[in-house]
Order: sequence, then C-alpha cells, then structure tokens
Amino acid sequence: MQKKDIKNFTLNELQEEVKNLGVEKYRATQLFNLLYKKGIEDFRDMLSLPTSFRGLLQRYFYISKVRLVNLAKSKDQTEKYLFKLEDGNLIESVLIFSGKRVTECISSQIGCKYNCLFCESGKKGFTRNLTVSEILNQVLFVKKKIESNLNNIVFMGIGEPLDNYDNVVKAICILNFKDAFNIGARKITISTCGVIPAIKRLQEHNWQVELSVSLHAPENKLRSYLMPVNNIYPLPDLIEACKNYAEKTKRQITFEYILIKGMNGSLIYADKLAKLIGGFNSKINLITFNPAPNSLLQAPGISQVKSFKNKLATRGIPATIRISKGDDISAACGQLKSLHLK
Ligand code: SF4
Repeated sequence: MQKKDIKNFTLNELQEEVKNLGVEKYRATQLFNLLYKKGIEDFRDMLSLPTSFRGLLQRYFYISKVRLVNLAKSKDQTEKYLFKLEDGNLIESVLIFSGKRVTECISSQIGCKYNCLFCESGKKGFTRNLTVSEILNQVLFVKKKIESNLNNIVFMGIGEPLDNYDNVVKAICILNFKDAFNIGARKITISTCGVIPAIKRLQEHNWQVELSVSLHAPENKLRSYLMPVNNIYPLPDLIEACKNYAEKTKRQITFEYILIKGMNGSLIYADKLAKLIGGFNSKINLITFNPAPNSLLQAPGISQVKSFKNKLATRGIPATIRISKGDDISAACGQLKSLHLK
C-alpha cells in the first residue's frame, strides 16, 4: 500500500480521510495546526494526538519535505532558494524583504509550457505540475528558517499557476486557513500570463486573492513575439476577460509590464497601453528587465522607465515602478536553476 502525502489534502479532504480511519473529524484541524503552524515533520512528535491516531497516521500517510540545494543572498537582502523535490526535480523560491513586508515568490510547476522570450523557465519546456504539498513545502521551509513574519505570497516563480489550477487553489485555501498558515487572501497574488478559461473559473470564487496579469506589450503582434501564449489567448480577448473579472469580483487587477530595451518601451507603446486598459479597475506595474547571464535582451535605462510611467500618468493610468531585486543572485524566474544545471 502506498502512503499518501498528508499535505496534499485541504481541510475538508483531510476530515474525510480521518473519518475513514474511524477518527473524529476535528482531529483534522488539530493536524493542520501541527503540520503548518508548528511545522512538525514527524507524526511521532505530535504528542498532543492520541497514540492510536499517531499509529494510523504513520501507517497510511507520510510528511513530505523539500531539500535545500542552494541559497543565494543578495546585497539587497533578497534570498533565492533552490530546492530539490523527492523525485530529484529542482524548483526555486525567492524571498524579498521590503520594510515590514516579507514576500515569498513561489513556483507552481516544474518548467513551463509557454516559453516567453524573456524567461529562463520557459526555455526548458514543461515537466509536470507541482503537487499541493510541493507548493506548500516551499513556504513551510522558508517560514521555519526566517525570524520575520512571512506575510505575502506571490505565485510568480517557475510555472504558470493557472495551468495548475486545482493544486494552486487548494494550496491557497491552506495558506489562507487560520489554523494553517493564516496568510490573508489579499496578501496572496496569482500571476498569470493570461490563461483566459482559468481567469473565468477564478472569478467564480468568492475570495479576495489578488490577480496579476502579465501584458508586456499593448498590441497582438509584439505580444505574440514576446509571449507565444498570445497566439492562443489574444490580447483583445484577454482584456475582455480581465474587465469581466474586475467587474465581477470588484477587485483591482494589476497588469505587469516588463520593459525590455529596444523592444516595448517607446512612448507610442505607453499610449497604446493606456488606451487598451483605460476605463476599468486596474493599475500597471512596470518592471525593468533583469537579464540572465548570456541573455541577448537588455534592461532599459531608468530614465526610459520613468518616461514610460509619466506618459501613462498623463493618460490617467496609475503605474508603479517595481525595483528589480536580487540582480546579483540571478533572482528572476528560472535563472538560479539554469545556473545550477550548467
Ligand atoms: S514568464 Fe511565466 S508563463 Fe512565461 S515562460 Fe516564464 S514561467 Fe512560463
């Protein structure tokens, strides 16, 4: 009999599992507390549970872990973790400190199907989705290691989270649950390249999770060049889906726009972008491209980034400039894994 990874279950599912073992359902909440709040990694150490229940847990379940392979620390305090999973695959998480805000950027897949021009993760193709436990273990590991309060989670690491919809949604439920990680829904961000069917599914949830959509170009031709996913879900359809999402959920959508030198940063594009997203509840996050070693693409100068932002402002579009962190430790998605594999 194959043991089950206990961190793959939501609370409802775990209640069913323990009920099937003849144990009261409330023990599932107790287990959540021991696994996620206390971070206990061995059923034998769960001394607040009856001995007979601990025995059943050992017989039918196991507690998975990730193994740290590399930890890179930037001079700006950003930390990048390279983890090995139980099957030997590698994933990355990045920890970013900004005042009291401590954000972990986590992975949702091994590789990615979408092959964006500027992204290291997409270059190696797709291997598989992460399980719920593999998503949570990234957070558990970091939470145990750092002394500060980890209070923000962004799904912006390796992979397209909405392509691993069910596991990501389950992981978010556990991250948000008060007897588990207790991270507010508004402190959790899903970042997508624009998988329209999943955006439509997501808007049916009655929750406050933030949605961030990667645009990177305000017209179809350029966006398809930078992000081949645009051939499947073209820009006009994506914007329509985002408008519906914002209306239905009453939440503001953040559009991510990576500025790449000589590619998408002219003021004409700023004008087109303003026209495209004007008129609904959204804002723009401008990001200066963080080139990987040997990348043919380059970052623009800060003056170009500021001019782009000012142009958006004159058109009434709120925009912020996200300062790229961890440049010295290959902190952009997929870069550390690439270096390690080389
Ligand atoms: S940017 Fe995101 S969607 Fe695009 S290839 Fe990288 S991980 Fe995939």
